[in-house]
Amino acid sequence: MWPASNWENNRTAGIVAVSLLQFTGFIFVRQKQGITLSGKIQAIRGMHDILPEDTPRWQHLEALTRSLLDTYGYQEIRLPIVEKTELFQRSIGELTDIVAKEMYSFEDRNGDSLTLRPEGTAGCVRAGLEHGLFHNQVRKLWYMGPMFRHERPQKGRQRQFHQIGVEAFGLPGPDIDAEMILMCARLWQRLGLANLRLEINSLGTPESRAAYRKVLVDYFSAHQDQLDKDSLTRLENNPLRILDSKNPDMRPLIDDAPEFSGYIDNESVEHFQSLCEYLDRQQLNYVINSRLVRGLDYYGRTVFEWITDDLGAQGTVCAGGRYDGLVEHFAGQPTPAIGFAMGLERLIGLMESSTNRLPDSDPHAYLIIAGDEFRAAGLALAESLREQLPWLRLVTHLGGGSLKNQFKKADKSGARLALVLGADEAASQEVSIKSLRDQAEQERIGQNSLAVHLAARLQAV
Ligand code: ATP
Ligand code: MG
Repeated sequence: MWPASNWENNRTAGIVAVSLLQFTGFIFVRQKQGITLSGKIQAIRGMHDILPEDTPRWQHLEALTRSLLDTYGYQEIRLPIVEKTELFQRSIGELTDIVAKEMYSFEDRNGDSLTLRPEGTAGCVRAGLEHGLFHNQVRKLWYMGPMFRHERPQKGRQRQFHQIGVEAFGLPGPDIDAEMILMCARLWQRLGLANLRLEINSLGTPESRAAYRKVLVDYFSAHQDQLDKDSLTRLENNPLRILDSKNPDMRPLIDDAPEFSGYIDNESVEHFQSLCEYLDRQQLNYVINSRLVRGLDYYGRTVFEWITDDLGAQGTVCAGGRYDGLVEHFAGQPTPAIGFAMGLERLIGLMESSTNRLPDSDPHAYLIIAGDEFRAAGLALAESLREQLPWLRLVTHLGGGSLKNQFKKADKSGARLALVLGADEAASQEVSIKSLRDQAEQERIGQNSLAVHLAARLQAV
């Protein structure tokens, strides 16, 4: 294989080394671009596929939520995924984490600055104003879909994640505040999720917050040496958010900070007390967390979070609050509003550890066609069953193959019953039925009465 002479040997070694270098360089460049050597393109970091084995859980979550929202009188609104960057800057706030560090913004071909939505409230308010939805009326809206934030990907934190957002416009509360929170509790119960803790707080009016802000700035400025980097920035921009710090080293300083209770206005106190009374009356447990501030500028009065300890550090599965000033801020009529968003990936994570069973999505029946000459008859039989039993989950074996092989596929599909159409059955206009889940005796049923038989047999299970 190798050339005999030394010279040749060296030359070959040199060529091999150079090629290897080029080769690894090639891999390196390819990997940097997210392309593997074989030319496969991979998904973007922090943006995940949801695979067929996982979609039944997603569909279950979405279907339960959708029907619950429907029963509480909420209507779906479908919003664009891309909006003008300015919309988010002006609503969420320039100095919040989302706008300052996390947005996917880009210039489109016209030079306009656009952003992949990091949350849904801003777009919902924009659409409501654009179409006059809030004019002299109460609106209860929800939406669902992907959101985008350039955060460090980790468990429970993606760059593309999904939310169901719920918003109510035109109601000053606190009755709607309570109803929203109770609706969440009912959803957790339906999903079979336990161990979710409700934390609530009131952020008062902008005036009372401004007074508190001053006191906080004085307090934290006096202890500047104990502030971490994040908190130092927040001291300048948004001192209330220091209270929200997740850094345990900051805890003692935060615990000793002045309480908002000394500055909150009386009306907000009454509003909050009524909310607590409504929740008490329904015997819903909650913790009043006076340090709960939320990361977006538009919140005031009621804020709440549903938190679990079962998911590690990213434990907030649902968060929201009142944003009475936002519609007016966008030049609309003053419109009180409250909303929340659920993080679907985190809820799915909790559902995975719940003992609640998902609705069965396996096929009811698998139609085996024993003999290529019966394919047309098999398709016709399947179509006739679908006509008569619209709910039937029926997989027809396509592509031929031995009886043994078809039975293997039937087993693998998870179907309850195998329906067999072969020469004998075709001759007598019948179908053989075999249970794939137990030892029940095989039966032969006339094709004309098959639908009635299946309906009785499957619905009795
Ligand atoms: P966090 O403190 O976890 O960053 P947040 O205050 O930024 O949350 P919100 O903007 O209130 O979150 O979003 C509501 C919910 O959406 C969160 O409670 C969470 O369940 C989910 N969520 C937010 N960001 C992400 C993300 N990057 N990946 C997955 N879920 C997320
Ligand atoms: Mg965040």
